[in-house]
Amino acid sequence: MKKHTTVVYLIHFSSKLGNPDNPRGQAGHYVGQAVDLAARLERHRIGNGSAIMAAVARAGISWVCVRTWEDGTSEQEIKAQKNAPRLCPVCRGEVQLPAARVVGKRVPMIERKVQMDNRHAPGR
Ligand SMILES: [Zn+2]
Repeated sequence: MKKHTTVVYLIHFSSKLGNPDNPRGQAGHYVGQAVDLAARLERHRIGNGSAIMAAVARAGISWVCVRTWEDGTSEQEIKAQKNAPRLCPVCRGEVQLPAARVVGKRVPMIERKVQMDNRHAPGR
């Protein structure tokens, strides 16, 4: 088990949320970072860990963790792009969300689905 590796994660909301920090803004995504992603997602699921995720929980909006970066990319780098939909595999149409209401699930990451050079050699 890796320890003390910071994971940056992107959460996609099933519907937009009014941003409590900016009444004119609407949030459709949340970017955060955590050492223990599973524990953090569980905190978000019960409405803890960030003001936005608490508001999402109160509003009953379902969400999924759609992408993670474990390569040293920082939360600030992702936020600085200010273009979460472009980074989001759901918004890009590359991943279908399950039809059922889901909260706190991780969907398969595109990086793992589009490996070009993934041939095994079964003859050995
Ligand atoms: Zn999205």
